[in-house]
Amino acid sequence: MSKNIITVFEQVASDNATRIAYDEMGKTTSYGDLHKAVDTLAAWLSRQDLPAHSPILVHGDHQVEMIVSFLAALKAGHPYIPVSTGSALPRMQSILDTANPALVIAVDDFPAAKLKFTAPVVNHAQLAEILANPQPFTTTTMVNGDELAYVLFTSGTTGSPKGVEVSHDNFMTFVEWVLSDAFNIKEHANFLGQPPYSFDLSNMYWLPALLSGGTIKALPHNVVENFGQMFTALPNLDLNVFVGTPSFADMLMLSPAFSEKQMAALKTFMFCGEELTVKTATALHQRFPHAKIYNTYGPTETTVAVSGIEITPTIIENNDRLPVGYAKPGVTLSIWDGDKQITTPGKQGEIVISGDSVAHGYMNNPVKTAKSFFKIAGVPAYRTGDAGTLDEDGLLHHKGRMDFQIKLHGFRVELDEVRVSLEKSPLIKQAVAVPKYNQAGKVTHLIAYVIPNEASDDEAGLTKKIRESLQGLIMPYMLPTQFIYRDSFPMSANGKIAVKQMIAEANK
Ligand code: AMP
Repeated sequence: MSKNIITVFEQVASDNATRIAYDEMGKTTSYGDLHKAVDTLAAWLSRQDLPAHSPILVHGDHQVEMIVSFLAALKAGHPYIPVSTGSALPRMQSILDTANPALVIAVDDFPAAKLKFTAPVVNHAQLAEILANPQPFTTTTMVNGDELAYVLFTSGTTGSPKGVEVSHDNFMTFVEWVLSDAFNIKEHANFLGQPPYSFDLSNMYWLPALLSGGTIKALPHNVVENFGQMFTALPNLDLNVFVGTPSFADMLMLSPAFSEKQMAALKTFMFCGEELTVKTATALHQRFPHAKIYNTYGPTETTVAVSGIEITPTIIENNDRLPVGYAKPGVTLSIWDGDKQITTPGKQGEIVISGDSVAHGYMNNPVKTAKSFFKIAGVPAYRTGDAGTLDEDGLLHHKGRMDFQIKLHGFRVELDEVRVSLEKSPLIKQAVAVPKYNQAGKVTHLIAYVIPNEASDDEAGLTKKIRESLQGLIMPYMLPTQFIYRDSFPMSANGKIAVKQMIAEANK
């Protein structure tokens, strides 16, 4: 069993009582005050007679009360369900229907009147009132071991969202790995807190920061949406650690201020959630030549990330697509063809993850759980739906989503492979390859959505030049027949390129 999250947090909080734990655009909370608030809310929760281990939904953005609520829920023995402000109503309804939470903590207004559920809601004013009366709280029944720590609902781009049930030890072994020698995170570091709490990537900064005496520099959603405000704020945050998607880093690189010159203390980049491309990694190395860049990989179902590697200039030079790393301790990575494990190094198949990071399953959904979760010699395992290969030394390469593999004129084509090839053109900044289906559901051709390095009024001329530039760099059958130019790509709520949305729009 791992150390307990609350026990470690309380030790760190008393060792660092006057240090800033949370900084939301200048509104700061010390470790001492955070500890007090967690105890006060946990004491109040414990008096509410909630059914043992029942989940508590926490609704909000990046306020410190989100963290207070997560930790208080854990201390009072309940898993929490983070739901971001602005989530679509059908998504919220589906979460309420599936999870049937015992309580809703509305850090931001909860649209209760538009939703059907029975749980009482603690609104912001009530929460403020509870927190205004500090109370000590000691317990021996905080969430621990195999008990659920949180239930995180997937983005649900296909079908309704599924609630991934993550245990205390799933979470704690992940955080212990993030804070181990595998990564370059020092005590008392300043972490950029951008990914929303309803995206599991947020777990890569908030708890690691709080268990290492660091400070979370939270970026609320409205600041991220306002480039002017965000780019003014960033250089003043004295950041040491960036945790985010490559798409978010691409966005930040639109500003010249996002560079070592102006942000000299930023020494660690932790990526996860989507492919870190050679283009992004190269550009970032140029901006921050002395920083360490890590690529990590994993689905929500296996607790944020299960593999990682430092992306050095040598690795960038020697790979078309960057590797996603070696397994975290306690995890085994394997490659499968259906129900059969592939043991030949370098042979492509489905990535299967087994070990102590594998979540319990999908909440109240035994059918979907049985489809993806299974056991290998008694050890919990998860079929990722990702294609990949393993090198002889255990280095994992991600080759794209298996459902992004299509058949085009008899060839098996991986959409990510096409994108990587397109991005080899010096004229292309970023690309997404999208299949165009006919009525019979067959792919007729590929469309390339392209953000060019330089915009042009003569799109036909630009397409001709791009085609020429790609000669010898892309297999002819992979070359899209249609090119569509864009200034930017749509993003999902989690800050990834919304590829599924682009496919749907191209086939409307
Ligand atoms: P999520 O559950 O939203 O975190 O999404 C997990 C999926 O994101 C994985 O199954 C992969 O398809 C993709 N993903 C995560 N990390 C990486 C990475 N480093 N490189 C490529 N794809 C990734």
